[in-house]
Amino acid sequence: MTTPVPQPGIMTISPYVGGKSKAGDNLEVTKLSSNESPLGPSPKAVAAIEAVLTDAHRYPDGGSLLLVEAIAEVHNLDASRIVCGNGSDELISLLNTAYVGPGDEVLFTEHGFLMYAISATAAGATPVKAPEVDRTADVDNLLAAVTERTKIVFLANPNNPTGTYIPTSEVERLRAGLREDILLVLDAAYAEYVTRDDYRPGAELVESHDNVVMTRTFSKIYGLAALRLGWAYCPPAIADVLHRVRGPFNVNALAQAGGVEAVRDQAHIELAREHNEKWLPILTQGFRGMGLGVTPSVGNFLLLDFDGSGKSASDAEVYLAEKGLLLRAVAGYGLPTCLRMTIGRDNENHAVIEALREFLSN
Ligand code: PMP
Repeated sequence: MTTPVPQPGIMTISPYVGGKSKAGDNLEVTKLSSNESPLGPSPKAVAAIEAVLTDAHRYPDGGSLLLVEAIAEVHNLDASRIVCGNGSDELISLLNTAYVGPGDEVLFTEHGFLMYAISATAAGATPVKAPEVDRTADVDNLLAAVTERTKIVFLANPNNPTGTYIPTSEVERLRAGLREDILLVLDAAYAEYVTRDDYRPGAELVESHDNVVMTRTFSKIYGLAALRLGWAYCPPAIADVLHRVRGPFNVNALAQAGGVEAVRDQAHIELAREHNEKWLPILTQGFRGMGLGVTPSVGNFLLLDFDGSGKSASDAEVYLAEKGLLLRAVAGYGLPTCLRMTIGRDNENHAVIEALREFLSN
């Protein structure tokens, strides 16, 4: 029997496995495995989502018009440059679909977000990784890895799963070192959490250069991961290309309605940011005090390294899961000695501290 054969490269892709959401039957779980917001969405967004449910027989607006306008207004951006997507995952895929093919290379950092490699390979291109320094993107290493085949450079800033970032001056140095026919994608999924003065998500670079795109998401600080909503800020020619390759109704009506209210409710975002700011140092110091390595993070998650602790990350994952605490194993990112913990609510964070202290002392 013959079966349809996928394009070359497709069978080399390992399916993306999301953070766990179950730990065993009848066990209440604390999900700290997917960098979601412990505060949940804005109540105003929830009300807006509920209000559109009875219109579920209608197609959504194909261009996400009201949402684009709301994003532009709140962030003081040019609406014509904004393209919404079914999660920023979709926008990453569409950029690869549109700009790369067989023979091309797509470059990102050693522990870059998995979707870059998946969607580059799916488009027939070759993913290339540049070494990091201290689990942080290194501009010199990225530039050294560029070849005449490089078509896209993805930079998650801050990066997942490391939580590290590079300052805007370094992003600018990266851009300046790239040929102008190479697309630089600044993935700013965690931008809202960063409170450092030397950091900007990238809109100014998009406005001043024809080869820079910024992607954003509603899945993290906005607490709307289930709706699948992201957006890209693009040079006009790239926005035009994305509109050509996206599906006609790629953003559903619930996401559009919820997104409008979520982006307007910046007070809710401020609460989430404050909660995160409070916990980042407490958890970082707490875990270090137990003998774990903790990569300095500016995001809403921490990379815990069990190397040298006498215990393995995979045993820790199982131990925590048995208590209903779900952290993310990141062996798939080439970090087999690490677990990634999303910052949760107060009681959830205390529970992880307590459980890890027990685990490490046993
Ligand atoms: N970029 C980065 C760096 C991420 O960590 C994630 C989520 N894990 C995404 C993009 C995709 O987010 P979404 O598709 O939910 O918008």
